[in-house]
Amino acid sequence: MSIFQARLSRVREWMKTTGVDVTMVTSPPNVFYLTGFDCHPHERFMALCVQATGEATLFVPALEEEEAKKCGFSSLVTISDTDDPMEKVRAVVGEGPFATLAVEKQHLTVSRYEQLQTVFGGAKSIAAEELLLHMRLQKDAAEIAIMKKAAEIADRAVEAGINAIAVGKTEAEIVAVIESTMKAHGASKASFSTIVLSGEKSALPHGSPGSRTIQPGDFVLLDLGAVYEGYCSDITRTVVVGEPTEQQREIYEVVLAANLAGIAATRPGQPVKAVDAAARDLITERGYGEYFNHRVGHGLGIEVHEFPSIHGKNEQQLVPGMVFTIEPGVYVPEIGGVRIEDDVLVTEDGVEVLTSYPKELQILPVK
Ligand code: MN
Ligand code: MN
Repeated sequence: MSIFQARLSRVREWMKTTGVDVTMVTSPPNVFYLTGFDCHPHERFMALCVQATGEATLFVPALEEEEAKKCGFSSLVTISDTDDPMEKVRAVVGEGPFATLAVEKQHLTVSRYEQLQTVFGGAKSIAAEELLLHMRLQKDAAEIAIMKKAAEIADRAVEAGINAIAVGKTEAEIVAVIESTMKAHGASKASFSTIVLSGEKSALPHGSPGSRTIQPGDFVLLDLGAVYEGYCSDITRTVVVGEPTEQQREIYEVVLAANLAGIAATRPGQPVKAVDAAARDLITERGYGEYFNHRVGHGLGIEVHEFPSIHGKNEQQLVPGMVFTIEPGVYVPEIGGVRIEDDVLVTEDGVEVLTSYPKELQILPVK
């Protein structure tokens, strides 16, 4: 049984126990997870339709047919730009009646939902995410191997970015080096818009890189990730250009200690919130609590943000196979910010850090 068949049979099991007649999976990440077909159809209709009794059918835009065939899915229905997708769905599922339909409530637009109602009538709809996001929470061996490679590409890209830093260069120039390095090493794309922020801009956790030129004394924060075979990595490193001030050294040391404390708190059986607390308490004790204004991390996989969310109220237990980021930061307005982010895997007996670019404070020569 292929990995995709195994995943589909878990969907069918869930449908049986929850009394679902039909599941319509419509988000590209979940279609990819269940079929291996990696497609972003824009406004066109794409769905994996799983019936409690019988086949699973993949509906794809006609222009994607050749790509879809490559994933080897046995039952494929193509939809041209002039077809009515709902007629095609009806031809597969029949007239019903349908009591319960599972859909991705967070993904489906209201208009698409109303279209589906013309096929599924008064069926009660339940959230397919409950199952799918739960399944994606624990990565299997094949997924972990791919994610290690995605992390390795991120390591190389961060190294290339740091090597490219020089006084007078713009943030955007460093971004270009990072993104071309990722692609040269096999990434299909960046997992999000690469962030390079310098000087006071490094104090903006999600600022956008631009034409600011790097100056002596700047912190330079690099946050990037690679998509490799459909899976994301996500790493942040911060370096300083020229001799750091006492305060810069202190901020860096606090963030590094918080990153290490978060990693040390990661092991199976612990609640997720313990990871957040380990990193956050350290920053608070050192007096920088008010400058750390986001959660400690997020799950990582097919999407760059998925479950589990590493925040202080998440009681969920860590289990082997979870992959997430640990990325504490301290952002002092006007002065600058430091964030140090790693990707970690929960193992049977602890934790494995997937990203490996060095973390001790790197002081770049002013050149
Ligand atoms: Mn990041
Ligand atoms: Mn992140």
